[in-house]
Amino acid sequence: MSLVDAPGKAQTRHRNESVQRFISRFVPATGTRPPSYDSVVIAGNGIGAQAFAAQLVKHPQFEGKVTLVAPPAQESRRLINGVSLRGIAADFLSSAVGVDHATLLQAATGTSLPGPVAHRQTAAMAIDRNGEWTFSNSGPWQGGSKGNAAPLVYGMRNSRLVAGLRELLAEHPVEYVDDMVESAAHLRSYAAGTRPLLVNATTKPTLLGGDSSAPQRLVLAVQAPMIEADSGISHPLQRDTTFAPLIRRNDIIDVGYFTPFADPLSPRSTWYGIFARVVDADSGFDKDAELATMTGELHGVANALGLMVDDAAETLAGALVPASSWGKVAPSKPGTLELKRMYSGGAPCYYADGMISAAIGGVIGAEAVVHGQDPDPAIRRALRPWRRHNFLWWLETNKISALTDRLLRVNVQASMAYPHSAGLRMWKSAA
Ligand SMILES: Cc1cc2nc3c(=O)[nH]c(=O)nc-3n(C[C@H](O)[C@H](O)[C@H](O)COP(=O)(O)OP(=O)(O)OC[C@H]3O[C@@H](n4cnc5c(N)ncnc54)[C@H](O)[C@@H]3O)c2cc1C
Repeated sequence: MSLVDAPGKAQTRHRNESVQRFISRFVPATGTRPPSYDSVVIAGNGIGAQAFAAQLVKHPQFEGKVTLVAPPAQESRRLINGVSLRGIAADFLSSAVGVDHATLLQAATGTSLPGPVAHRQTAAMAIDRNGEWTFSNSGPWQGGSKGNAAPLVYGMRNSRLVAGLRELLAEHPVEYVDDMVESAAHLRSYAAGTRPLLVNATTKPTLLGGDSSAPQRLVLAVQAPMIEADSGISHPLQRDTTFAPLIRRNDIIDVGYFTPFADPLSPRSTWYGIFARVVDADSGFDKDAELATMTGELHGVANALGLMVDDAAETLAGALVPASSWGKVAPSKPGTLELKRMYSGGAPCYYADGMISAAIGGVIGAEAVVHGQDPDPAIRRALRPWRRHNFLWWLETNKISALTDRLLRVNVQASMAYPHSAGLRMWKSAA
């Protein structure tokens, strides 16, 4: 080891140590027993599945014993899944895969450091005045006026990140099988051992015979990559900074989020924008009408910020996705791990917490399996603060939206102090 560390190396070591301390908190060495399984076979290849596989094969007893079964990630310019990756999520993914942020970013965005990064986060209410969008006084809720020293958020296309993780894992003892899993028996047939743990990291909760109940809430979202207009970006959008324009409409706040972004398939796009809205499943909402309204919000607000959607026909995506429970979830059946159910918590798409939950869930789940502990409670415990913050954000945007609106217009910093500013460590990289 050299006596003088390059700054990047010291940063990476600090990040990895922080991840290790987190693991030790939720998978204590004192509870270690021999693992109950000789192999692991995972349905799915998303961020949670790959973080889980990468963390498992760091342990010699699982080298060459981990198989991922899923259709390969389809890359297209359309933004299908989450884009805003919290800095701490980059810590967990980099640590699991054994790389630094620079290598992860290169694989996921095709750019080198600093890449599409934000060190500050700001917010304001957005107001539609007959098609002209204006904003209340914006203010920072993380990173103050100068910016946090460590990265808070990176922006990338999800399908590139998923494909990039696979590329980074190419030299690791993980086997990928390109197939759609149809049943537990089908998944088991791909196991590399005789006592496999069957893992469900797909969007299908009943794949391995698990319970499924209809969601109580759903999330509507529209998102697209953005190009800067010739005149450049306009206030309140700022460089190196995310901006959350919030629109109160029929007593629910549509949560907007604009972040720096990079995608090798959309090289002109240096920004990304989304609007997301949580609705009760039984509220009789009109999906198409809502998505059309939100698409109008996306174009209108982008325009007011000096941005334009990049090739909407090819890139813009609308989604309707189920929210999951903030509280208790059904346990995994013996011999299986419902990994996706364990790490999912609350409403996705509107608090940039899906990928951090998947990354932590994958890493903690793997460590629990290796140490012979029950991964279900370990994952749920580790992610409790993220679920709580997601729940509080839902209260603010869906239950007390008029108050949230009023407070935000008066003072962003004060109204976002708890839990958003206070939750800085749940966003930022450790270094
Ligand atoms: C519009 C939108 C915006 C979002 N914004 C954000 C954001 O800004 N930040 C953030 O952190 N999160 C965001 N999220 C959530 C985020 O995308 C996910 O939480 C994250 O990608 C983690 O996904 P995952 O690993 O759970 O797996 P997924 O990406 O859900 O992958 C599941 C995989 O399972 C595979 N599969 C399905 N059925 C089968 C089968 N039968 N056999 C084998 N494989 C199967 C699929 O091919 C798929 O690749 C957003 C989501 C949406 C929809």
